[in-house]
Amino acid sequence: MTDAIDGLKMRERNGAGDAAARPSAYAPQSAQPPQQPELHPSLEQPDALRALFPVLAQTINGAPLAYLDNAATTQVPLPVLDAIRAFEEHDRANIHRGVHTLSQRATDIFEAARSALKRFIHAGAQHELVFTSGTTESLNLVAHGLSDSADAPALLRPGDEIVVSIFEHHANLVPWQQAARRSGARLRLLLPDAQGRLRPNDLAGLLTPRTRVFALTACANATGYRPPYEALLSMAADAGALTVLDAAQTVAHGGFDLSALPCDFVAFSGHKMYGPMGIGVLAGRRDALQRLAPLRFGGDMVQWVTADTAVFAELPARLEGGTPNVGGAVGMAAAARFIEALGRDRLEAHEAGLRTRAVEGLSRIAGVRVIAADSAPTAIASFTVDGVHPHDLGTLLDEQGIAVRTGHHCAQPLLDHLGCGPTTRASFAMYNTADEVDRLLAGVARAVKILR
Ligand code: PMP
Repeated sequence: MTDAIDGLKMRERNGAGDAAARPSAYAPQSAQPPQQPELHPSLEQPDALRALFPVLAQTINGAPLAYLDNAATTQVPLPVLDAIRAFEEHDRANIHRGVHTLSQRATDIFEAARSALKRFIHAGAQHELVFTSGTTESLNLVAHGLSDSADAPALLRPGDEIVVSIFEHHANLVPWQQAARRSGARLRLLLPDAQGRLRPNDLAGLLTPRTRVFALTACANATGYRPPYEALLSMAADAGALTVLDAAQTVAHGGFDLSALPCDFVAFSGHKMYGPMGIGVLAGRRDALQRLAPLRFGGDMVQWVTADTAVFAELPARLEGGTPNVGGAVGMAAAARFIEALGRDRLEAHEAGLRTRAVEGLSRIAGVRVIAADSAPTAIASFTVDGVHPHDLGTLLDEQGIAVRTGHHCAQPLLDHLGCGPTTRASFAMYNTADEVDRLLAGVARAVKILR
């Protein structure tokens, strides 16, 4: 028994700590296949750019696919698929735990992906980045981690307050409802003004000495509204609250500069930034991440284990229990490089141009109401049509090869508050074109005639 526990301690010690800081027994070797010529994707060459996304080259119901559901999931370009495939074909092994070459190599590759993503969001020396399965897990990790105790008492206590905006995806609301229940804290909602905008003054009225957390989206997925999150986070941070930013709808568009934001935690997903599904990030200030009770206990997140207790590893391993999605991390980092190669400012301008074209065209169709039409430019246009159910509209658009999302977009409290019910949402990405927007407009006009 003692031998078994000693052996366990040994294995966990091998697995613990920052792999990047651990001396490697072997010089990292690359078994990567010969490098392909460097690709230079460009928004100025839309056909060449689209050719890098194999899924786009198909017809749906006899029409070329116009994929306008990018806020739900973006498509994956060949360089990302190639990076994942190279890892799986040449370097796959479990990380942090092995002394053999493949394990060392996989560990180096995983940590290189972490570094690439840190650079992508401008993380500073005070920041750390944890891999999760996506935005939902990242936000659960924060909400649970602040309301549960593990090796320290929970931060949230009875009488404390958590403020979230009504623009949140359910993933940034339900975990806070649960955290409030678990801790006895009170959940308070930041509502928009009559013009549908979140105002610093309204937040000021909600912040009290008991406000421990302020959680906000950088862009509302259901409407495309972009709140002034920099000012709102600053105000909450000045009031002493921990700040949480849901960047799921931002990271692949204009992006953000974590070092310039008063932000303790930021969450985003790989599959909304041209990367794989099942991988995401929770990044933030090291001292804030350190306050989180782990969500997953087990291998790789411990430094030392005896039969009845455990000492947890340092960040980021502390919050990454179990075997991570290494191929996913590789793909997510490759996706970040792909976005950077295009230029984020140009990407944001391209998508905002498509949104403006869509909003202007939709507003000219009788009975169509665009939600948050005058919001700062984002990549999302959400609208309703008098007397037409979004699912019927979405089905008719699909018959024309146009993929949009319809329904509540996991933001029921927001749509109830706005009094608009379910909507139809078109959302744009790097590979979308003005021609596709025009097809959407023609498709909506046609569907309206048929359905009304
Ligand atoms: N937050 C926002 C703003 C989102 O748009 C989404 C996905 N629609 C999520 C959170 C949840 O992301 P995931 O499903 O990748 O965990």
